Amino acid sequence: MATTIDASLRQEFARLREECLLCYQCGQCTSSCPNGGDLERGPRRIIRDVQAGEIEAVMSNEDLWRCSECGTCSDVCRMDVDVAAILKRLRALERQYGGQRCPEREAADIAAKRLGKYPRIDNLAFGMTMASKGHVPKDVVGAAGAFTRIVSQTVNARMKAGRAAPEGAPAAAAKPAGPARPFYAGCALPQDADAYRRTHAVAAAIGFNLAETEAAACCGHPSRGTVGSGFTADEPVLTACPACDASLEEAGVQTTPLWEALVDRARRDERPLKAAAESFVPYVGCLVDRERALASLADAAALSGARIELSYPALHAACCGALGGMYRGSSEGARRLLGFAAERRATVVTPCLLCRDNLRSAARRAHLSVPIHFWPEFFSAADAGSAAPTDGDAHD
Ligand code: SF4
Ligand code: SF4
Repeated sequence: MATTIDASLRQEFARLREECLLCYQCGQCTSSCPNGGDLERGPRRIIRDVQAGEIEAVMSNEDLWRCSECGTCSDVCRMDVDVAAILKRLRALERQYGGQRCPEREAADIAAKRLGKYPRIDNLAFGMTMASKGHVPKDVVGAAGAFTRIVSQTVNARMKAGRAAPEGAPAAAAKPAGPARPFYAGCALPQDADAYRRTHAVAAAIGFNLAETEAAACCGHPSRGTVGSGFTADEPVLTACPACDASLEEAGVQTTPLWEALVDRARRDERPLKAAAESFVPYVGCLVDRERALASLADAAALSGARIELSYPALHAACCGALGGMYRGSSEGARRLLGFAAERRATVVTPCLLCRDNLRSAARRAHLSVPIHFWPEFFSAADAGSAAPTDGDAHD
């Protein structure tokens, strides 16, 4: 779709140009971007094109949609150019005036449309709408597996809802004593029954009584700023997803990553954790506070006796490809991280479900046999039974 350049778009660009004038093209924003290896031009060049009034070049630049809104570029800019906010406004202008339709933009628009009607993104409906627009997953095997899993979960849930518990069936696990802690489940976790169950199991074993509210649906992040969740809370909320964490913080809700809270509690109670393998490579994704997330995984390693394999922080916090990972293909960051893990024959552990799925796809496509686990698939309370990995975690 071509961009319609009219007087009001020129005016918007003139305003943006004012905000970019201090940029002296040092390139720090591009070199610190966790998406760096996958960008054609990068934030520095986009800012330069805005300075030069190159409207067409900016509006046809797919890098705008590969930005995962982590904010690192704004943090590192010595001239206080809020690069991430400028990119966000440029995406809004693209929505208004046309521009190109790359997989990431299509995904964000579909998510925005669905969130206008429903509280959560339904992965099946989302995937089918993407396919109807001509965007099919690059990892067909992974997509077929996810499709089968979601269908079988839905059928099982419906069957369970329609029948009474058989006589003698074990009672549901007792809730731990202590006050309920507000938990924002988001939209991805409830659609993965095994990860959801493990999350609640490890939290309960460490003494957390997670209380989900109906309002804790989708944080709005997949729609890239178009739709917020409207969620409010008076006390800090536990989150299991870095995107939820980032979106809620932006909306003024104080959050704490659940994994960090669990590690802190386990350490305070001197309760060891159990790890599913002797060593692991951490991968925290691009939306979290990198140092803090890596420190928490190092603490989990210490509590479990597992060895953490670290190289340099940027490798462990590259972008997995985010929403486009499935449709555009593996990111450079994911491939480099997997190569590092494969050399050490180590499992990868991530606190993000989307990162886990994108990394699994990247491993399958690269024919790398690297097990990739979501945090509660790898760590459990030492006295709470087995933390055996799920089927299909390693890829041939
Ligand atoms: S870091 Fe700031 S000054 Fe340097 S190129 Fe990026 S926007 Fe310009
Ligand atoms: S917000 Fe993050 S992903 Fe987006 S351009 Fe800046 S550093 Fe890159």
